[in-house]
Amino acid sequence: MIHVPADTLRSLVTNIYIALGTPDDIARLVADTLVEANLAGHDSHGVMRTLQYIEMIEKGVIQPAARPSILDRRGARAIVDGGWGWGPPAAFLAAQTAAELARAKGVGAVTARRTNHVGRIGAYAQAIARAGQIGFILANVGAAVTPFGGRQRLMGTNPIAWAVPRAAGHEPLVLDFATSVLAEGKVRVAKDKGAPVPPGVILDSHGQPTQNPNDFYDGGMLLPFGGYKGYGVSVMVELLGGALSGSGVSPSPKYGGGNGTLVLALNIADFVDPAEFETDVEDYVARLKAAPTVDDVAEVLLPGEPEQIARRQREVEGIPLPEVTWEDLQAQARRLGVG
Ligand code: NAD
Repeated sequence: MIHVPADTLRSLVTNIYIALGTPDDIARLVADTLVEANLAGHDSHGVMRTLQYIEMIEKGVIQPAARPSILDRRGARAIVDGGWGWGPPAAFLAAQTAAELARAKGVGAVTARRTNHVGRIGAYAQAIARAGQIGFILANVGAAVTPFGGRQRLMGTNPIAWAVPRAAGHEPLVLDFATSVLAEGKVRVAKDKGAPVPPGVILDSHGQPTQNPNDFYDGGMLLPFGGYKGYGVSVMVELLGGALSGSGVSPSPKYGGGNGTLVLALNIADFVDPAEFETDVEDYVARLKAAPTVDDVAEVLLPGEPEQIARRQREVEGIPLPEVTWEDLQAQARRLGVG
């Protein structure tokens, strides 16, 4: 592992995306979203994705110059068309539009279709919460997860995220996770390291439990988190993210890849006195932080706190990257004449 400063990574990948035909502002936004995922400790959704994205651009899956647009806006809802460009600008447009609608109408609901991979979805809920509202987002993605009790890939890793603002000076509470036991990117990391995945994460192509990450790529499948409950959540993500956005549920021929997305924003002042809400949030946070802990646990963490801890550390120490990933990124920059 080597440690690379966030700014170095930001400018390296920005330049790669510009060299591939991405407008400067979009290249900066995408690079920033990836580096933010690394800073948050979610390397599976960080700059290592660049190599996969380059391939997707070169195969015509990502149209690097496409800009997302609002296809239609009525009442408290809007529909974003990603135009099969980069995912993050489409998801930020959906989040920003949901927040605008919520300011005007109390709630905002925005779907996004024709949207490539949007990455760490917590970023978009967090953007809404930083603007003082409650944010919620879910997204379906290519089928890789079996239903509870089944042995066939019929759901994506289908992430969901909520973000709730806190008092001034505090980052929002952010809960953001895949509805599979483990995000697919983390199975890939284990495969690349030649390490086993923990028990209870994947089944092989015959439906047998296995810890060998290669079995997942040989036709195996991930398990949903939380047994039938996580399975049910994932079904709802397929229907609200995939069907409602017009993107299609992931195992259907209609689904064309990427993330079928739904974003919701709630304007707190339209529900309760914001000062009262803030007092309740801070009171509850104080109770959580004061909870007695079990052996080996120093303190109860809030949703979003592990990411803040990772960020503080990585801003100082740099972002840890496998040497091969760092070399691959530099080689791509040289190939494209920007390294
Ligand atoms: P994870 O299992 O690491 O869970 C992360 C969430 O749990 C965070 O909200 C974190 O703050 C909270 N958390 C973790 N430990 C905690 C503790 N001890 N106390 C309190 N809260 C704690 O996440 P994951 O399932 O591996 O997902 C990783 C990322 O992958 C997410 O950002 C997700 O959006 C992303 N993802 C994206 C896609 C896509 O298609 N775009 C698909 C799957 C996952």
